[in-house]
Amino acid sequence: MDLADKSKFPLVVVVGGGFGGLQVAKHLKDKPVNVLMLDKHNYHTFQPLMYQVAMGSLECESIAFSLRKNFEGQKNLRFRVAEVTAIRSESNYIETTIGVITYDYLVIATGSTTNFFGNKEIEKHAMPMKSIPEALNLRYQILQNLEQAVLLNTKEEREPYLNFVLVGAGPTGVELSGSLAEIRNHILTKDYPELKKEEMKVYLVDFLPVVLAPMSETSQKSAEKSLRGMGVELLLGEKVESYDGHMISFASGKKIITKNVIWSAGVMGQIPEGISADVIQRGNRIETNEICLVKGTSNIFAIGDVAASITAETPKGHPGVAQVAMQQGENVAKNIVNII
Ligand SMILES: Cc1cc2nc3c(=O)[nH]c(=O)nc-3n(C[C@H](O)[C@H](O)[C@H](O)COP(=O)(O)OP(=O)(O)OC[C@H]3O[C@@H](n4cnc5c(N)ncnc54)[C@H](O)[C@@H]3O)c2cc1C
Repeated sequence: MDLADKSKFPLVVVVGGGFGGLQVAKHLKDKPVNVLMLDKHNYHTFQPLMYQVAMGSLECESIAFSLRKNFEGQKNLRFRVAEVTAIRSESNYIETTIGVITYDYLVIATGSTTNFFGNKEIEKHAMPMKSIPEALNLRYQILQNLEQAVLLNTKEEREPYLNFVLVGAGPTGVELSGSLAEIRNHILTKDYPELKKEEMKVYLVDFLPVVLAPMSETSQKSAEKSLRGMGVELLLGEKVESYDGHMISFASGKKIITKNVIWSAGVMGQIPEGISADVIQRGNRIETNEICLVKGTSNIFAIGDVAASITAETPKGHPGVAQVAMQQGENVAKNIVNII
């Protein structure tokens, strides 16, 4: 396959077909550039509805969209499934699973991955939910554990299979704990008449004293009230120390026996190798200026979850939400057109 760019137009390589990358490519349509979009998957993932896939209320095709189909008719764009493994900014090329590709402009839009904060034991045993395969795995594990509980004779034996612990009371933890509580309240005894509603427990844990910490106090109070009303047990101000696949332990000394720990306590940028350590900020995000240009470069942009656009107004960068990635993507495309 020939990936060399033989036209007179500059080649913009967009790494990642997520919320940010899609906007870059779309806003470069009919512009005097060639666009090569690379993603390790052939589909875009609509992450905001992932919890519904995990909970069985949506099938995965409802949140996965073909990237190739999305760009049908965009003549200046080619798409390839490839993982970018390294960025060699000094020589303007990237290393990928389909070979070396040189670029004129590079846009890094690789998003984020689950942050286990270096705890390998938790990483091994807890269930994350940052991709469609992980959401399906979560769904499968939950159903398997309910089936297992049916086979056991005593309450004590069933307890680890029926205790659900969500770590991280951000939007994902709140959505998942609410959905699990709804399953317990409305579905459990219909689908599993052998089980008792009271035996299934849903805990939502955070080391901060509130749920939805970055949101307004009104939202926090309202979410807390709804969750308690549904029977979610809130363990706020509790720091997880360990989880060995059977018991989760907290710094306070509290322990819960469980086979179901769902980890949504944080994310970190997914950065291919080769980016200078000097520009990697808190949360493994690449530092950029206000127009998303990676610090110290003149033709590499980073947008969305993987980027921290650090300015006087945003000393920690922007929050990792889809709107930020989309707006940055559109602006980067416009800036590239202005530069060339
Ligand atoms: C469960 C969940 C719920 C969410 N709910 C909301 C919500 O309600 N509202 C909201 O605004 N935000 C929400 N978010 C956050 C939002 O999804 C992210 O902020 C957004 O996806 C970031 O866009 P992005 O383009 O930076 O990265 P992504 O959309 O994550 O896209 C990154 C892309 O890069 C690809 N990629 C990664 N590494 C490589 C590589 N090395 N080579 C090639 N391809 C690579 C990936 O396959 C992926 O397609 C949610 C996130 C999650 C996980």
